Amino acid sequence: MMARKIQHLDLDAFFCSVEELLNPGLKGKVFAVGGRPDGRGVISSCSYAARMLGVRSAMPSRQALEICPNLIFVRSDHHLYGEYSRKVMDILRDTSPIVEQVSVDEAFLDVSDMPQPIRSIAQDLQTRVLKETGLPCSIGCATSKLVAKIANDFGKKQVKTGRAPQTITVIEPGDEARFLAPLDIQALWGIGPKTAQFLRSKGINTIGTLAGLNDLEIKQVFGNHGESMRRRAQGIDPSPVQPDEDDPKSISNEITFHEDIDDPDHLLDILRNLSDKVGSRLRKADFAGWVVQIKIRYSDFTTLTRQTSLKECSNLDQDIFDAARELLLNNLIHYRPVRLLGVGVTKLEKPHQQLSLWDDNSNKKQDLTKAVDKLREKFGKDIIKRANSLKK
Ligand SMILES: [Mg+2]
Repeated sequence: MMARKIQHLDLDAFFCSVEELLNPGLKGKVFAVGGRPDGRGVISSCSYAARMLGVRSAMPSRQALEICPNLIFVRSDHHLYGEYSRKVMDILRDTSPIVEQVSVDEAFLDVSDMPQPIRSIAQDLQTRVLKETGLPCSIGCATSKLVAKIANDFGKKQVKTGRAPQTITVIEPGDEARFLAPLDIQALWGIGPKTAQFLRSKGINTIGTLAGLNDLEIKQVFGNHGESMRRRAQGIDPSPVQPDEDDPKSISNEITFHEDIDDPDHLLDILRNLSDKVGSRLRKADFAGWVVQIKIRYSDFTTLTRQTSLKECSNLDQDIFDAARELLLNNLIHYRPVRLLGVGVTKLEKPHQQLSLWDDNSNKKQDLTKAVDKLREKFGKDIIKRANSLKK
């Protein structure tokens, strides 16, 4: 079988690059897009000049300002970034029909069917994105998504000029394991900070060491995932590039608090509100989902997502809230302050009305919910409150 040709494209300091297009005076300056340092703001994206001084994305803005007192803060404009993101993704889809967007500024492309060498496809693409949108990007090329992504991250890190890296990093077929071997274990998918810490305590620091563990050792560390982890460590990843569908994959709402909250009842009230919003958005889009997720970010920035399956596909506020509440209560660490809470529903499909025809109860609930939606639309969302959200 011919080796696949997979690319991982990542826009360089995306938000900052868009801001530079709008305001060329920012070019080369030490600046960041994100929250102001006086509140609880966090850096979303920072210029390469700022990175040279130690500023990083996800860093609290206050801390960034301590490291770099003349850091310029630019307010983010996500609507604008969305427009640029769509322009870039359109170019990628024009290059190959098999494009999987993984975030606002990242995507995988499968270009196996194109006859040109993968490096020249990447060069053409990089040039075209820059010419048509003004945005710099970097591309990793390999035989799998895993290695293409790691190659791209690796290539970008080698450039320390204070300017957009605009790298193209190609790992030739057969070189995957050799490329990965010296890299830190945390570069591998599925190894978070905790697992990494554990592995290091056992003297496993590089992907190469991990790849060389025997059957027993790998099972001791990863249990049933041992074999698949070892394959990844050897650079083997058969997962396909999955083109995006027109349907949404999930609908979610989240909120960052102005001040950390540690009161479970207060958190449950907020969770109820988020569940109602998600339910109403699902019904508006005429979707229902099988899986409810919550996201909790604690004051120390550790973030946890948990999910649970519903017995039936649903878009009802109460079903979403019941599942989300159970997840929250099972995962609340006693009075540990929370700074962000989110609720989402995934595994979406069109609700099967014909099935619920036989289920009188569920039909009544649907009708009631629809009536509530209508009233809320007409008179504002606070017109109807449930009995339990009124008592206090
Ligand atoms: Mg990026």
